[in-house]
Amino acid sequence: MADPGRPADPDGRLADGDPAGGRLVGGGLAGLGVSQGRAAGPMIRMASPPALPSPRQVANSAAETAAVVKALESVTADLRQRGSLAGGGDAAEILDALAMIADDPMLREDAEAAVRDGLDAPHALDAAFTHHRETLAALGGYLAERAADLDDLKHRAVAACLGLPMPGIPAPGHPYILVAEDLSPADTAGLGTDVVALVTEKGGPTSHTAILARGRGLPAVVACAGITALADGTVISVDGKTGQVGVGLTDEAVAQVRRSDREERERLANSSGPGRTADGHPVKLLLNIGSAADLRPGAEGVGLFRTEFLFLDRKREPSFEEQVAAYAEVFARAGTVVVRTLDAGTDKPLPFLDLPPEPNPALGIRGLRVDRVLPAVLDTQLDAIAEAARATGADAWVMAPMVTTPAEAAGFARRARDRGLTRVGAMVEVPAAALLADRLLAEVDFLSIGTNDLSQYTFAADRQHPGLADLLDPWQPALLKLIAACADAGRAAGKPVGVCGEAAGDPRLAPVLVGLGVTSLSMAAVCVPSVREELSQHTLEECRELAALAR
Ligand code: PEP
Ligand code: MG
Repeated sequence: MADPGRPADPDGRLADGDPAGGRLVGGGLAGLGVSQGRAAGPMIRMASPPALPSPRQVANSAAETAAVVKALESVTADLRQRGSLAGGGDAAEILDALAMIADDPMLREDAEAAVRDGLDAPHALDAAFTHHRETLAALGGYLAERAADLDDLKHRAVAACLGLPMPGIPAPGHPYILVAEDLSPADTAGLGTDVVALVTEKGGPTSHTAILARGRGLPAVVACAGITALADGTVISVDGKTGQVGVGLTDEAVAQVRRSDREERERLANSSGPGRTADGHPVKLLLNIGSAADLRPGAEGVGLFRTEFLFLDRKREPSFEEQVAAYAEVFARAGTVVVRTLDAGTDKPLPFLDLPPEPNPALGIRGLRVDRVLPAVLDTQLDAIAEAARATGADAWVMAPMVTTPAEAAGFARRARDRGLTRVGAMVEVPAAALLADRLLAEVDFLSIGTNDLSQYTFAADRQHPGLADLLDPWQPALLKLIAACADAGRAAGKPVGVCGEAAGDPRLAPVLVGLGVTSLSMAAVCVPSVREELSQHTLEECRELAALAR
């Protein structure tokens, strides 16, 4: 069954209108709304690292040297200014430290020497930064970890020299809407509080940009064709529910968008209590989190703790002690927590695993399969989860991502139970696992359906691909049939089967999933009130009727 309320065609442009409740002056764009909420304000684009032009013949080395010095001075001044605007704390310290590196006389001398050797200014800067990076990398330890900072500074210096916008997340010192071609999980995780909404030209509804935006309650629109062609400073509105982006708003319209967002958040904040259908059938409403910072009151526990989000930018494996501390922080604050072991690979690379490149990464070593090549990583993580559970007395459940066969489920369950973890589960993200859900449930205590990957693998459609959003639509009957098969197996085994993919946070789909037989829905905190409200309006029988129509 097609859902009539789906957002507009990702390639379509909106006619002039009133997308977010304000008067629109210049028209609008449409993308896919992936994280509800509204925002309005000036947009700033995140520039990509600059490409080096072909080398030039140097006719006037004094002019090239002056260009080198000017670029380094401008990067230093920019970082100092951002450091002073950061208002103290870690961010200010990091920016000041980067400014000191950009201002290092040895770096400048290296770049000047490269000019004397015949390089033009951008290539001389590139050579000097590359040389310093290699020196740091060779020193190993903490200094080697700083080598990536030199790449960032190099891109900034080359951009300054070429008169291009500074790459990286902007820090203008005022609230803004971040616009980008696409964002890596690490970019999104590092966003400052001055970002009030996100709009990307690429990305899909189940991309990790979307997931992280929802985790932070940031309105977000992805697959918004044409957004990066707008100029920095353009005042836009973002509606993360409908996917509409208004362009060229008046002050009055901006104020109205903000007011309506505040009112909607206040209204939903008043919703509370456990998940129930209209006739009282319980459906646990749980949270998807990436760290303790995503915890919010109002849910019945955590249904998906994406532990890999804690370590996306790490170059070295987090130690046992560090992991215990990170897990215990969550366990101490949330009653029941379903911890997912590291789900690395493809769209969520974990640099410290140092996995070799693969021709088809989504079909390669990812999720639980990393255990085939690096078994010690899972051992340490299970030890740390068990220790954090012991230390906090939390009701810790543990599950593995990308389980494909009953034998994999059995192996994972054995290793978790050996450590005293008693509630062990498997994610269902691969059609093979859904088809053998009964046999998986003979090995584990619960299943959690990851609809994002289950869609990707059922429809052979890259979850990041904006052009394939129709195939990734969780209303697709083939996906619903696989969910029903898992729920049937759960009912027969008397074991819980939940959904933790992004589909669980769609209020219109929630009654259908409940009608199919799932026992819990796990979602970003921002989705809980609307899902609770929707469920409370349908009896279980109505949910079953809706499910029968949809599948
Ligand atoms: C999923 O695939 O639906 C899921 C919940 O896992 P992730 O989105 O983190 O891959
Ligand atoms: Mg997944």
